[in-house]
Amino acid sequence: MSNDWQQLTDGVARGDVRSLARMITRVENRENGWKEAMKALYPRSGRARIFGITGSPGAGKSSLTNKIALLLVERGLQVGIIAVDPSSPFSGGALLGDRLRMRDIATTEGIFIRSMATRGTLGGLCQAARDVARILDASGKDIVLIETVGVGQDEVEVVKAADLVMVVLVPGQGDGIQALKAGVMEIADLFVVNKADRDGADEVVNDVLAMLEISSQADGKRPPVLKTSALSGDGVPEVVETLLGLQRDPADGTHLQGDRVREEILTLLEREILRVVRGAWGVNGALDEAVGEVLAGRQDPYSVAERMIAGVRNALEK
Ligand code: GDP
Repeated sequence: MSNDWQQLTDGVARGDVRSLARMITRVENRENGWKEAMKALYPRSGRARIFGITGSPGAGKSSLTNKIALLLVERGLQVGIIAVDPSSPFSGGALLGDRLRMRDIATTEGIFIRSMATRGTLGGLCQAARDVARILDASGKDIVLIETVGVGQDEVEVVKAADLVMVVLVPGQGDGIQALKAGVMEIADLFVVNKADRDGADEVVNDVLAMLEISSQADGKRPPVLKTSALSGDGVPEVVETLLGLQRDPADGTHLQGDRVREEILTLLEREILRVVRGAWGVNGALDEAVGEVLAGRQDPYSVAERMIAGVRNALEK
């Protein structure tokens, strides 16, 4: 590992905030040597609990994240927050900038906030979130909160980088149905009905409970459903308590962790294979040539892809 990376990883290991910010940027940009640096940090990670927080825009996710983070810090825990916007190609773009309403906690000792946006592909974004969470973990954060802007399929993919997922719903948006559509029910470990200071929160709770009844797991386990007001703070201590309690299921944990490691290896492999293929076929103009062939009607994309794979296979067998 080069000297500058060594300095960065040492700084991160010490919990130095500037090193942390710089290392995240360089890993996000896939700067030369990023992989070696991640390998070096990996043994230091694995201690933090990573929670995903998703729900429709305006549900109160960032307000809730703020409150949760503050309560965690009060307990003496170190917190990292990753705010992810899969729909925006700009880090710190409009929506994300807006999310820096979180700013009021950004200067709180023990809290580190980072926002990120699309990085080429969805798999890339999920992996980027994993990388950042791992760096935060290695720097000594006890809890990492990955908060998404919305609740679409993209967000569902992103929160897969988390150990546990909290879905935030609100009264008066037909949210229960939305959540079901986006396949959120399956990934939720905890439901929070926020804005309980408004009418209709109990109805949403009942809707969720009814849905859980229908889709009840074989083992009979159901995610808890809690009510909060991020505005007043009512119910938030219970959410924190529940989140911290949820992590203590070692049997479940190993199984889930295995799935996550598998998922991560496949994502890394996918990108690596694509990089190799792009390198092999892109550099000597073969890809451009193939595109020309397809455009001229002499080839079809299926055959081209097949030929490229055959090339890779040959290279691997050599
Ligand atoms: P996000 O888009 O899901 O992150 O939602 P925000 O945290 O930005 O909140 C959206 C709006 O709802 C803001 O104006 C908040 O002040 C408001 N809000 C958040 N939580 C509550 C709550 O519990 N009760 C009420 N009445 N408003 C809330």
